[in-house]
Amino acid sequence: MPGARSAEYLRAIGIDRWIPRNRPEAPAPQTPGPAAPGGDASPPRQAGPADAQSRWEALRAEVLSCTKCPLHESRTQGVVGVGSPQADWMVIGEAPGAEEDRRGEPFVGRAGKLLDAMLLSLGLSRTANVYIANILKSRPPGNRDPRPEEVAACLPYLTRQIELVGPKLLLAVGRIAAQNLLSSDAPLGRLRGRVHRFGEHDTPLVVTYHPAYLLRSPADKRKAWEDLKLARSVLRQTSAGIPIDGDRS
Ligand code: URA
Repeated sequence: MPGARSAEYLRAIGIDRWIPRNRPEAPAPQTPGPAAPGGDASPPRQAGPADAQSRWEALRAEVLSCTKCPLHESRTQGVVGVGSPQADWMVIGEAPGAEEDRRGEPFVGRAGKLLDAMLLSLGLSRTANVYIANILKSRPPGNRDPRPEEVAACLPYLTRQIELVGPKLLLAVGRIAAQNLLSSDAPLGRLRGRVHRFGEHDTPLVVTYHPAYLLRSPADKRKAWEDLKLARSVLRQTSAGIPIDGDRS
């Protein structure tokens, strides 16, 4: 691997695509209902607007007051989710870190900035057309891995979020998100590069690296870019009613 980061090298491994630009940030809609700031006003797919609004509000209230696992004792606040309630893309991470715990929004630390840049390379943004949530809504102390009982307690919240958003594509970032969504213990490398299905709607699910890992291992950004292109092509095919490779006819 070259020591000096030439412009050609950065371009070759796709890093240049993912350098966040210094632009004023519009406030991201928090735990959206149709009336959330920045949210799209068109009706959600899964429920009528008033119904969806009240279901989002109920979900948010439950998460913020949740005591189903001991993490509520150490967290600053529950971190519900952020983005458009009608997003076609839903990104799912692991759990809030320190910054997310403090600010109450997923992926707002360094990894979040990289995630935003990755999404921007696809023309996507948490302020417009993506919904972002985590497997866990509370920060594990010291950012340790989630415990199975914590995941079991928290996963129903995510399932409800997926149901309310009704995304056309799920992007699982990192091993923890991928393994828990797919009920698999396969390593991330074996889960990448193909289209999985999630839930009763068989929503397509693509796996990629966690942005925190990519910050430590920038050479793998090239592979992450391949994952994002796979996800984009799956979404385009699904939207056009074209069967996805590997699907049963
Ligand atoms: N890592 C995650 O998986 N989620 C966050 O919200 C922040 C960092």
